[in-house]
Amino acid sequence: MTNADWLNRSLKAVWHPCTQMKYHDSGELPLIPVASGAGAWLYDFEGRRYLDAIGSWWVNLFGHASPRINAAVKDQLDRLEHVILAGFTHAPVVELSERLSTLTGGELGHCFYASDGSAAVEIALKMSHHYWRNHGQPGKQEFLCLAGSYHGETLGALGVSDIGLYKEAYGALMHHAIAVPSPDARQAEVGETAADVARRAAAGLEAMLAARHESVAALIVEPLVQGAGGMVMYDPEYLRRARALCDRYRVHLIADEIMVGFGRTGTLFAHEQAGIRPDLLCLSKGITGGYLPLSVVLSTDDLYGAFYDDSYTRAFLHSHSYTGNTLACRAALATLDIFAEDEVLARNRRFAERFTDLLVPLARHPRARHFRRRGMIWAVDIDSADPDFRLRFFREALQRELLLRPLGTTLYFMPPYILDDDEAVLLAERAVAALDAALA
Ligand SMILES: *Cc1c(COP(=O)(O)O)cnc(C)c1O
Repeated sequence: MTNADWLNRSLKAVWHPCTQMKYHDSGELPLIPVASGAGAWLYDFEGRRYLDAIGSWWVNLFGHASPRINAAVKDQLDRLEHVILAGFTHAPVVELSERLSTLTGGELGHCFYASDGSAAVEIALKMSHHYWRNHGQPGKQEFLCLAGSYHGETLGALGVSDIGLYKEAYGALMHHAIAVPSPDARQAEVGETAADVARRAAAGLEAMLAARHESVAALIVEPLVQGAGGMVMYDPEYLRRARALCDRYRVHLIADEIMVGFGRTGTLFAHEQAGIRPDLLCLSKGITGGYLPLSVVLSTDDLYGAFYDDSYTRAFLHSHSYTGNTLACRAALATLDIFAEDEVLARNRRFAERFTDLLVPLARHPRARHFRRRGMIWAVDIDSADPDFRLRFFREALQRELLLRPLGTTLYFMPPYILDDDEAVLLAERAVAALDAALA
Protein backbone atom coordinates (compact mmCIF):
# COMPACT_ATOMS: atom_id res chain seq x y z
CA MET A 1 0.00 0.00 0.00
CA THR A 2 1.30 3.46 -0.91
CA ASN A 3 0.69 6.83 0.71
CA ALA A 4 -1.93 7.59 -1.94
CA ASP A 5 -3.92 4.42 -1.14
CA TRP A 6 -4.17 5.23 2.56
CA LEU A 7 -4.83 8.88 1.90
CA ASN A 8 -7.75 8.15 -0.42
CA ARG A 9 -9.26 5.53 1.88
CA SER A 10 -8.89 7.88 4.86
CA LEU A 11 -10.61 10.74 3.08
CA LYS A 12 -13.59 8.49 2.27
CA ALA A 13 -14.01 6.88 5.67
CA VAL A 14 -12.40 9.05 8.36
CA TRP A 15 -13.83 12.39 9.48
CA HIS A 16 -10.70 14.14 10.77
CA PRO A 17 -10.79 16.35 13.90
CA CYS A 18 -11.03 20.14 13.66
CA THR A 19 -10.64 19.87 9.90
CA GLN A 20 -12.41 21.29 6.87
CA MET A 21 -12.43 18.02 4.93
CA LYS A 22 -12.82 19.80 1.61
CA TYR A 23 -9.32 21.31 1.97
CA HIS A 24 -7.95 17.78 1.93
CA ASP A 25 -10.06 16.71 -1.04
CA SER A 26 -8.97 19.74 -3.05
CA GLY A 27 -5.33 18.93 -2.27
CA GLU A 28 -4.86 22.32 -0.58
CA LEU A 29 -3.97 20.70 2.74
CA PRO A 30 -1.74 17.63 2.70
CA LEU A 31 -2.88 14.56 4.65
CA ILE A 32 0.08 12.47 5.74
CA PRO A 33 -0.41 8.73 6.23
CA VAL A 34 1.93 7.55 8.98
CA ALA A 35 3.24 4.00 8.86
CA SER A 36 5.50 4.06 11.91
CA GLY A 37 7.25 6.21 14.45
CA ALA A 38 10.63 6.02 16.18
CA GLY A 39 11.97 8.63 18.58
CA ALA A 40 11.14 12.13 17.37
CA TRP A 41 10.42 10.92 13.83
CA LEU A 42 7.27 9.81 12.00
CA TYR A 43 7.61 7.77 8.77
CA ASP A 44 5.12 7.53 5.93
CA PHE A 45 4.55 4.52 3.65
CA GLU A 46 7.14 5.62 1.12
CA GLY A 47 10.10 6.29 3.39
CA ARG A 48 9.60 10.02 3.91
CA ARG A 49 10.09 11.23 7.46
CA TYR A 50 8.84 14.11 9.63
CA LEU A 51 10.29 15.47 12.85
CA ASP A 52 7.36 15.62 15.29
CA ALA A 53 8.14 19.06 16.75
CA ILE A 54 4.72 19.43 18.43
CA GLY A 55 4.65 16.04 20.16
CA SER A 56 1.62 14.91 18.12
CA TRP A 57 -0.71 17.59 19.55
CA TRP A 58 1.24 18.10 22.80
CA VAL A 59 0.99 14.55 24.09
CA ASN A 60 4.27 12.86 23.22
CA LEU A 61 7.08 13.35 25.73
CA PHE A 62 9.68 10.65 25.09
CA GLY A 63 9.34 9.97 21.40
CA HIS A 64 7.41 7.37 19.45
CA ALA A 65 7.93 3.68 20.22
CA SER A 66 9.78 4.46 23.45
CA PRO A 67 11.32 1.10 24.46
CA ARG A 68 10.49 1.47 28.18
CA ILE A 69 6.86 2.48 27.70
CA ASN A 70 6.44 -0.23 25.06
CA ALA A 71 7.78 -2.86 27.48
CA ALA A 72 5.48 -1.74 30.29
CA VAL A 73 2.35 -1.77 28.11
CA LYS A 74 3.23 -5.20 26.65
CA ASP A 75 3.80 -6.62 30.12
CA GLN A 76 0.47 -5.23 31.34
CA LEU A 77 -1.37 -6.51 28.27
CA ASP A 78 -0.71 -10.13 29.26
CA ARG A 79 -1.96 -9.57 32.81
CA LEU A 80 -5.03 -7.33 32.63
CA GLU A 81 -6.10 -4.94 29.88
CA HIS A 82 -9.03 -3.23 31.64
CA VAL A 83 -11.47 -3.66 34.48
CA ILE A 84 -14.47 -1.67 35.74
CA LEU A 85 -13.32 0.88 38.34
CA ALA A 86 -16.64 1.07 40.22
CA GLY A 87 -16.49 -1.54 42.97
CA PHE A 88 -13.14 -2.88 41.66
CA THR A 89 -9.58 -1.64 41.66
CA HIS A 90 -6.23 -2.70 40.20
CA ALA A 91 -2.52 -2.31 40.90
CA PRO A 92 -1.59 0.27 38.21
CA VAL A 93 -4.38 2.69 39.21
CA VAL A 94 -3.46 2.43 42.89
CA GLU A 95 0.24 2.94 42.26
CA LEU A 96 -0.33 5.82 39.86
CA SER A 97 -2.67 7.59 42.29
CA GLU A 98 -0.17 7.21 45.13
CA ARG A 99 2.66 8.54 43.03
CA LEU A 100 0.71 11.52 41.66
CA SER A 101 -0.34 12.38 45.19
CA THR A 102 3.29 12.23 46.37
CA LEU A 103 4.31 14.48 43.46
CA THR A 104 1.93 17.15 44.78
CA GLY A 105 3.47 16.93 48.24
CA GLY A 106 0.51 14.85 49.39
CA GLU A 107 -1.71 17.94 49.22
CA LEU A 108 -3.79 16.67 46.28
CA GLY A 109 -4.32 13.14 47.45
CA HIS A 110 -7.52 11.98 45.71
CA CYS A 111 -7.39 10.96 42.05
CA PHE A 112 -10.53 10.83 39.91
CA TYR A 113 -9.96 9.39 36.41
CA ALA A 114 -11.33 9.85 32.90
CA SER A 115 -9.90 9.46 29.41
CA ASP A 116 -9.62 12.90 27.82
CA GLY A 117 -8.62 16.35 28.92
CA SER A 118 -12.05 17.82 28.29
CA ALA A 119 -13.63 15.17 30.51
CA ALA A 120 -11.20 16.11 33.29
CA VAL A 121 -12.32 19.73 32.98
CA GLU A 122 -15.99 18.68 33.12
CA ILE A 123 -15.24 16.68 36.26
CA ALA A 124 -13.47 19.60 37.95
CA LEU A 125 -16.37 21.97 37.18
CA LYS A 126 -18.96 19.48 38.45
CA MET A 127 -16.94 18.72 41.57
CA SER A 128 -16.56 22.39 42.41
CA HIS A 129 -20.25 23.17 42.04
CA HIS A 130 -21.31 19.99 43.87
CA TYR A 131 -18.90 20.84 46.71
CA TRP A 132 -20.66 24.17 47.28
CA ARG A 133 -24.06 22.47 47.03
CA ASN A 134 -23.04 19.96 49.65
CA HIS A 135 -21.95 22.92 51.80
CA GLY A 136 -25.37 24.56 51.48
CA GLN A 137 -24.35 27.13 48.84
CA PRO A 138 -26.06 25.84 45.69
CA GLY A 139 -26.04 29.37 44.24
CA LYS A 140 -22.34 29.07 43.52
CA GLN A 141 -22.70 27.89 39.94
CA GLU A 142 -20.78 30.39 37.84
CA PHE A 143 -17.18 29.99 36.68
CA LEU A 144 -14.46 32.49 35.91
CA CYS A 145 -11.90 31.87 33.17
CA LEU A 146 -9.11 33.93 31.63
CA ALA A 147 -9.63 35.85 28.40
CA GLY A 148 -8.30 33.71 25.56
CA SER A 149 -8.50 30.50 27.62
CA TYR A 150 -8.90 27.02 26.16
CA HIS A 151 -10.09 24.09 28.26
CA GLY A 152 -11.36 21.60 25.70
CA GLU A 153 -14.24 21.07 23.32
CA THR A 154 -17.07 19.29 25.08
CA LEU A 155 -19.88 21.67 26.03
CA GLY A 156 -18.89 22.22 29.66
CA ALA A 157 -15.24 22.71 28.72
CA LEU A 158 -16.16 25.04 25.85
CA GLY A 159 -18.25 27.08 28.30
CA VAL A 160 -15.08 27.97 30.24
CA SER A 161 -13.09 28.56 27.05
CA ASP A 162 -12.78 31.92 25.33
CA ILE A 163 -12.05 31.10 21.70
CA GLY A 164 -14.14 33.11 19.23
CA LEU A 165 -14.62 30.50 16.53
CA TYR A 166 -16.16 27.96 18.91
CA LYS A 167 -18.31 30.52 20.68
CA GLU A 168 -19.78 31.49 17.35
CA ALA A 169 -20.64 27.95 16.28
CA TYR A 170 -21.74 26.43 19.59
CA GLY A 171 -22.41 29.40 21.86
CA ALA A 172 -26.14 28.69 21.93
CA LEU A 173 -25.47 25.35 23.65
CA MET A 174 -23.13 26.59 26.36
CA HIS A 175 -23.24 27.63 29.99
CA HIS A 176 -20.95 30.64 29.57
CA ALA A 177 -18.22 31.44 32.06
CA ILE A 178 -17.22 35.02 32.84
CA ALA A 179 -13.86 35.96 31.31
CA VAL A 180 -11.45 38.00 33.44
CA PRO A 181 -8.33 39.76 32.06
CA SER A 182 -5.48 37.55 30.92
CA PRO A 183 -2.07 38.33 32.46
CA ASP A 184 -0.54 38.00 28.95
CA ALA A 185 3.03 39.34 29.35
CA ARG A 186 2.92 40.83 25.84
CA GLN A 187 0.67 43.56 27.24
CA ALA A 188 3.56 45.09 29.17
CA GLU A 189 3.83 48.81 28.51
CA VAL A 190 7.20 50.53 28.26
CA GLY A 191 8.95 50.18 31.62
CA GLU A 192 6.56 47.48 32.85
CA THR A 193 7.57 43.91 33.73
CA ALA A 194 5.54 40.73 33.20
CA ALA A 195 4.89 40.78 36.97
CA ASP A 196 3.37 44.26 36.64
CA VAL A 197 0.97 42.95 33.99
CA ALA A 198 0.14 40.03 36.29
CA ARG A 199 -0.70 42.42 39.13
CA ARG A 200 -2.91 44.47 36.84
CA ALA A 201 -4.80 41.36 35.65
CA ALA A 202 -5.15 40.21 39.27
CA ALA A 203 -6.77 43.54 40.11
CA GLY A 204 -9.35 42.77 37.41
CA LEU A 205 -9.95 39.37 38.97
CA GLU A 206 -10.34 40.95 42.39
CA ALA A 207 -12.96 43.40 41.13
CA MET A 208 -14.94 40.54 39.58
CA LEU A 209 -14.72 38.40 42.72
CA ALA A 210 -15.69 41.28 44.97
CA ALA A 211 -18.83 41.78 42.90
CA ARG A 212 -19.84 38.18 42.20
CA HIS A 213 -18.17 35.74 44.60
CA GLU A 214 -21.48 34.59 46.05
CA SER A 215 -22.45 33.08 42.72
CA VAL A 216 -18.96 31.93 41.65
CA ALA A 217 -17.88 28.32 42.25
CA ALA A 218 -14.38 28.40 40.76
CA LEU A 219 -11.74 30.16 38.74
CA ILE A 220 -10.15 27.92 36.11
CA VAL A 221 -6.70 28.76 34.69
CA GLU A 222 -4.04 27.28 32.45
CA PRO A 223 -1.01 27.93 34.70
CA LEU A 224 1.81 30.00 33.11
CA VAL A 225 0.99 29.26 29.45
CA GLN A 226 -2.39 29.61 27.72
CA GLY A 227 -1.90 27.04 24.97
CA ALA A 228 -4.50 26.93 22.21
CA GLY A 229 -5.19 30.65 22.75
CA GLY A 230 -1.79 31.34 21.15
CA MET A 231 0.95 30.17 23.57
CA VAL A 232 0.30 33.20 25.78
CA MET A 233 2.86 33.27 28.59
CA TYR A 234 2.56 35.04 31.93
CA ASP A 235 4.31 35.63 35.23
CA PRO A 236 3.80 33.23 38.19
CA GLU A 237 2.86 36.28 40.29
CA TYR A 238 -0.62 36.02 38.78
CA LEU A 239 -1.10 32.53 40.23
CA ARG A 240 0.04 33.67 43.69
CA ARG A 241 -2.47 36.53 43.63
CA ALA A 242 -5.23 34.34 42.19
CA ARG A 243 -4.66 31.79 44.96
CA ALA A 244 -4.90 34.45 47.66
CA LEU A 245 -8.02 35.98 46.10
CA CYS A 246 -9.74 32.60 45.72
CA ASP A 247 -9.06 31.91 49.40
CA ARG A 248 -10.32 35.32 50.47
CA TYR A 249 -13.56 35.06 48.44
CA ARG A 250 -14.17 31.33 49.02
CA VAL A 251 -13.86 30.25 45.39
CA HIS A 252 -12.02 27.15 44.13
CA LEU A 253 -8.90 27.47 42.03
CA ILE A 254 -8.85 24.87 39.25
CA ALA A 255 -5.46 24.40 37.54
CA ASP A 256 -5.86 22.95 34.08
CA GLU A 257 -2.37 21.51 33.56
CA ILE A 258 -3.50 19.27 30.72
CA MET A 259 -0.94 20.90 28.41
CA VAL A 260 1.58 22.42 30.84
CA GLY A 261 1.89 19.43 33.19
CA PHE A 262 4.68 16.84 33.17
CA GLY A 263 7.68 19.09 32.78
CA ARG A 264 6.50 21.23 29.86
CA THR A 265 7.11 24.55 31.64
CA GLY A 266 10.34 23.47 33.36
CA THR A 267 8.92 22.10 36.61
CA LEU A 268 6.91 18.88 36.82
CA PHE A 269 3.75 20.94 37.35
CA ALA A 270 3.54 24.59 36.28
CA HIS A 271 1.84 25.80 39.48
CA GLU A 272 4.97 24.83 41.46
CA GLN A 273 6.70 27.90 40.01
CA ALA A 274 4.28 30.11 41.91
CA GLY A 275 4.73 28.17 45.16
CA ILE A 276 0.99 27.47 45.36
CA ARG A 277 -1.38 24.49 45.08
CA PRO A 278 -4.75 24.56 43.33
CA ASP A 279 -7.86 22.96 44.89
CA LEU A 280 -8.31 20.84 41.77
CA LEU A 281 -5.62 19.84 39.31
CA CYS A 282 -6.50 18.49 35.83
CA LEU A 283 -3.90 16.36 34.04
CA SER A 284 -3.92 14.49 30.74
CA LYS A 285 -1.97 14.70 27.43
CA GLY A 286 1.64 13.87 28.47
CA ILE A 287 0.53 11.70 31.39
CA THR A 288 0.93 8.49 29.37
CA GLY A 289 3.88 9.82 27.36
CA GLY A 290 1.46 10.21 24.45
CA TYR A 291 0.50 6.52 24.33
CA LEU A 292 -3.07 6.12 25.53
CA PRO A 293 -5.98 8.37 26.47
CA LEU A 294 -5.99 9.04 30.21
CA SER A 295 -6.91 12.03 32.34
CA VAL A 296 -7.18 12.64 36.05
CA VAL A 297 -8.44 15.29 38.46
CA LEU A 298 -6.55 15.53 41.75
CA SER A 299 -8.29 17.11 44.71
CA THR A 300 -7.59 18.23 48.27
CA ASP A 301 -8.81 16.46 51.42
CA ASP A 302 -11.24 19.33 51.97
CA LEU A 303 -12.84 18.82 48.56
CA TYR A 304 -13.00 15.06 48.90
CA GLY A 305 -14.40 15.37 52.40
CA ALA A 306 -17.43 17.34 51.21
CA PHE A 307 -18.67 14.26 49.31
CA TYR A 308 -17.93 11.66 52.00
CA ASP A 309 -21.26 10.91 53.62
CA ASP A 310 -23.98 8.33 54.34
CA SER A 311 -26.08 9.64 51.48
CA TYR A 312 -25.59 8.65 47.84
CA THR A 313 -26.83 12.03 46.60
CA ARG A 314 -23.84 13.70 48.24
CA ALA A 315 -21.45 11.37 46.37
CA PHE A 316 -19.72 12.62 43.25
CA LEU A 317 -21.83 11.44 40.32
CA HIS A 318 -19.63 10.87 37.31
CA SER A 319 -18.30 7.86 35.40
CA HIS A 320 -16.87 6.86 32.05
CA SER A 321 -16.67 3.31 30.70
CA TYR A 322 -12.89 3.41 30.51
CA THR A 323 -12.30 5.24 33.82
CA GLY A 324 -8.80 4.38 35.08
CA ASN A 325 -7.97 2.06 32.16
CA THR A 326 -5.31 -0.40 33.26
CA LEU A 327 -3.07 -0.19 30.19
CA ALA A 328 -3.16 3.61 30.24
CA CYS A 329 -2.27 3.72 33.95
CA ARG A 330 0.64 1.37 33.28
CA ALA A 331 1.89 3.62 30.46
CA ALA A 332 1.64 6.56 32.89
CA LEU A 333 3.70 4.68 35.50
CA ALA A 334 6.38 3.95 32.89
CA THR A 335 6.36 7.67 31.97
CA LEU A 336 6.91 8.67 35.61
CA ASP A 337 9.73 6.10 35.83
CA ILE A 338 11.50 7.80 32.92
CA PHE A 339 11.22 11.19 34.65
CA ALA A 340 12.90 9.74 37.72
CA GLU A 341 15.52 7.53 36.06
CA ASP A 342 16.70 10.02 33.42
CA GLU A 343 16.57 13.24 35.46
CA VAL A 344 14.46 14.62 32.66
CA LEU A 345 13.87 18.09 34.13
CA ALA A 346 17.62 18.73 34.48
CA ARG A 347 18.30 17.47 30.96
CA ASN A 348 15.50 19.66 29.61
CA ARG A 349 17.05 22.74 31.26
CA ARG A 350 20.30 22.13 29.39
CA PHE A 351 18.49 21.37 26.15
CA ALA A 352 16.32 24.49 26.44
CA GLU A 353 19.34 26.79 26.75
CA ARG A 354 20.97 25.26 23.70
CA PHE A 355 17.78 25.28 21.62
CA THR A 356 17.03 28.90 22.57
CA ASP A 357 20.49 29.84 21.24
CA LEU A 358 19.74 27.95 18.04
CA LEU A 359 16.52 29.93 17.65
CA VAL A 360 18.24 33.34 17.75
CA PRO A 361 17.90 33.73 13.95
CA LEU A 362 14.15 33.11 14.30
CA ALA A 363 13.85 35.49 17.27
CA ARG A 364 15.68 38.19 15.27
CA HIS A 365 13.79 37.55 12.04
CA PRO A 366 12.50 40.88 10.68
CA ARG A 367 8.90 39.56 10.82
CA ALA A 368 9.18 38.02 14.33
CA ARG A 369 7.46 39.63 17.32
CA HIS A 370 7.40 38.66 21.00
CA PHE A 371 9.74 35.67 20.88
CA ARG A 372 9.13 33.89 24.18
CA ARG A 373 9.93 30.70 26.06
CA ARG A 374 8.71 28.94 29.18
CA GLY A 375 10.54 25.68 29.90
CA MET A 376 10.15 23.45 26.85
CA ILE A 377 7.71 25.70 24.97
CA TRP A 378 8.96 28.28 22.46
CA ALA A 379 6.65 30.68 20.62
CA VAL A 380 6.91 33.70 18.35
CA ASP A 381 4.27 35.83 16.63
CA ILE A 382 4.78 36.36 12.92
CA ASP A 383 3.87 39.72 11.48
CA SER A 384 1.75 38.59 8.55
CA ALA A 385 -1.65 39.72 7.31
CA ASP A 386 -1.95 36.64 5.08
CA PRO A 387 -5.00 34.64 6.22
CA ASP A 388 -3.36 31.52 4.78
CA PHE A 389 -0.07 31.97 6.64
CA ARG A 390 -0.79 29.02 8.90
CA LEU A 391 -1.46 26.65 6.03
CA ARG A 392 1.42 27.98 3.95
CA PHE A 393 3.88 27.52 6.80
CA PHE A 394 2.55 24.03 7.58
CA ARG A 395 3.17 22.98 3.97
CA GLU A 396 6.63 24.53 3.75
CA ALA A 397 7.59 22.86 7.03
CA LEU A 398 6.41 19.44 5.80
CA GLN A 399 8.54 19.87 2.69
CA ARG A 400 11.49 20.30 5.04
CA GLU A 401 10.63 17.18 7.08
CA LEU A 402 9.09 19.12 9.98
CA LEU A 403 5.70 18.71 11.65
CA LEU A 404 4.90 22.24 12.90
CA ARG A 405 1.36 23.67 12.98
CA PRO A 406 1.16 27.37 13.83
CA LEU A 407 -1.79 28.68 15.85
CA GLY A 408 -2.93 31.48 13.54
CA THR A 409 0.23 33.55 13.08
CA THR A 410 1.88 32.19 16.23
CA LEU A 411 4.63 29.74 15.44
CA TYR A 412 5.55 27.44 18.33
CA PHE A 413 7.70 24.45 19.20
CA MET A 414 6.72 21.78 21.71
CA PRO A 415 9.23 19.03 20.94
CA PRO A 416 9.49 15.68 22.72
CA TYR A 417 12.12 15.68 25.49
CA ILE A 418 14.55 13.48 23.56
CA LEU A 419 15.92 15.59 20.71
CA ASP A 420 19.67 15.21 20.18
CA ASP A 421 21.86 18.07 19.04
CA ASP A 422 21.65 17.24 15.34
CA GLU A 423 17.86 17.15 15.51
CA ALA A 424 17.76 20.45 17.40
CA VAL A 425 19.98 22.12 14.77
CA LEU A 426 17.91 20.67 11.92
CA LEU A 427 14.66 21.86 13.51
CA ALA A 428 15.89 25.39 14.20
CA GLU A 429 17.47 25.89 10.76
CA ARG A 430 14.64 24.45 8.71
CA ALA A 431 11.96 26.30 10.68
CA VAL A 432 13.52 29.62 9.59
CA ALA A 433 13.80 28.36 6.01
CA ALA A 434 10.13 27.33 6.08
CA LEU A 435 9.20 30.75 7.49
CA ASP A 436 11.04 32.57 4.71
CA ALA A 437 9.38 30.36 2.10
CA ALA A 438 5.92 30.85 3.66
CA LEU A 439 6.35 34.63 3.69
CA ALA A 440 7.80 34.83 0.17
C1 LIG B 1 -5.86 19.84 25.06
C2 LIG B 1 -6.37 20.60 26.21
C3 LIG B 1 -7.59 20.29 26.80
C4 LIG B 1 -8.53 19.24 26.24
O1 LIG B 1 -7.98 17.96 26.26
P1 LIG B 1 -8.57 16.86 25.24
O2 LIG B 1 -7.86 15.61 25.60
O3 LIG B 1 -8.20 17.35 23.86
O4 LIG B 1 -10.02 16.80 25.44
C5 LIG B 1 -7.98 21.02 27.91
N1 LIG B 1 -7.20 21.98 28.41
C6 LIG B 1 -6.01 22.31 27.87
C7 LIG B 1 -5.18 23.38 28.50
C8 LIG B 1 -5.56 21.63 26.74
O5 LIG B 1 -4.40 22.00 26.17
